[in-house]
Amino acid sequence: NYNKALRYIDKVYEELVARNPQEPEFHQAVKEILASLLPILAAEPKYQDQAILERLVEPERLITFRVPWTDDHGKVRVNRGYRVQFNSSIGPYKGGLRFHPSVNASIIKFLGFEQIFKNALTGQHIGGGKGGSDFDPKDKSDGEIMRFAQSFMTELQNYIGPDEDVPAGDIGVGAREIGYLFGQYKRIRGGYPAGVLTGKGILYGGSQARTEATGYGAVYFVNEMLKENHLSLQGSRIIVSGSGNVAIYAMQKAEQLGAKVVACSDSAGYIYDENGIHINTVRRLKEVERKRISEYVKEHPQAVYFQNSTQIWRIPCDIALPCATQNEIDEVMARTLIANGVKAVGEGANMPSTIEAIHLFQEAGVLFAPAKAANAGGVAVSALEMAQNSMRLSWSFAEVDAKLHEIMGNIYRQSMDAAQQYGQPGNLLVGANIAGFRIVAEAMLAEGVI
Ligand code: GLU
Repeated sequence: NYNKALRYIDKVYEELVARNPQEPEFHQAVKEILASLLPILAAEPKYQDQAILERLVEPERLITFRVPWTDDHGKVRVNRGYRVQFNSSIGPYKGGLRFHPSVNASIIKFLGFEQIFKNALTGQHIGGGKGGSDFDPKDKSDGEIMRFAQSFMTELQNYIGPDEDVPAGDIGVGAREIGYLFGQYKRIRGGYPAGVLTGKGILYGGSQARTEATGYGAVYFVNEMLKENHLSLQGSRIIVSGSGNVAIYAMQKAEQLGAKVVACSDSAGYIYDENGIHINTVRRLKEVERKRISEYVKEHPQAVYFQNSTQIWRIPCDIALPCATQNEIDEVMARTLIANGVKAVGEGANMPSTIEAIHLFQEAGVLFAPAKAANAGGVAVSALEMAQNSMRLSWSFAEVDAKLHEIMGNIYRQSMDAAQQYGQPGNLLVGANIAGFRIVAEAMLAEGVI
């Protein structure tokens, strides 16, 4: 059965590459999952008999569309919009929108594919989806952002809805963008369809703690993993890459739990302060003033700024929290972290470590919290936002935070249990992938050939 499962995986992967040429990120995400599924596929031939993998790797729908908009000089510009509706076997498609020049079909499909399993792990009824555009929000005025968001939604609204597909934010899409997107959806569709987007402002139907959820959730998860291994955040040195929504609240929660965050970054460079970063300064610079992280050293001259954000992992640390973007930790950086004595890695971003980097961490005995499990707190609280919208009520910060804490603990347990059950004790990557897969695969079997 083992060899049969191995051949099945190879066949599915080869067909995937042939059918989706030149999509390296999508191939990478699928490859990582497939390798983890070997033990469950060997134990359960029904998945192969029912072509579960073949169906899983083919999105239910991939929508691309033109997004024309007018810049501040009156020039008409055109970007491409995407929405992948990957899998709806356990709930409406759910997943963020990314606005970044790197966005293409490969990136959107890798993110949408990951989202299927991550969403299942949360224990909420949400399917997998993702979307975005190659639009670059950097250096755009507020008016340009609004006109772009309105044009994007004018097309996207045809495909989404509170019970169909519920987008949220991701890189380049925060509270401001969600506000403009929601305004346009409401204007076109009428009524007050609060549940069509999550990550909304508190004033108009958002959930408490949604902003903090991904970062807080990642630290809750890492904390759980550390505790079980008789380690602690208390007094540890932490590096957090990024300075967006995930990074800021991961830093805040890590500090609240007694850790010292010595470095963080943006796409241009990183800052380092041996005595600890002032997180509120980073938050104001990034969230309010929308400036570069290099500005930080003007206010805190004891900190040092380095150009080249990819080198942030050269700083020795106990715990690394990659919270910027995909493939930011490669083999070289993984070796550097290991040589400097890193004890744990927790992925706040989506697929921040390459497959080779993950293998190095595992071989070196570094505790590894995979993205699908560790960063699921954001989408979990999105599901809580949908629930509150449906009930027309709002929970307090403490209530949502407590639910988030519980969900992250459940994800940890489920992943550990699945890893144990399928012969890879302690391997959270394999455990999370199997636990998420099992839920979706069983739902697909129950719903027939669809
Ligand atoms: N973009 C986030 C993620 O990668 C959140 C998605 C959501 O809240 O729908 O999971």
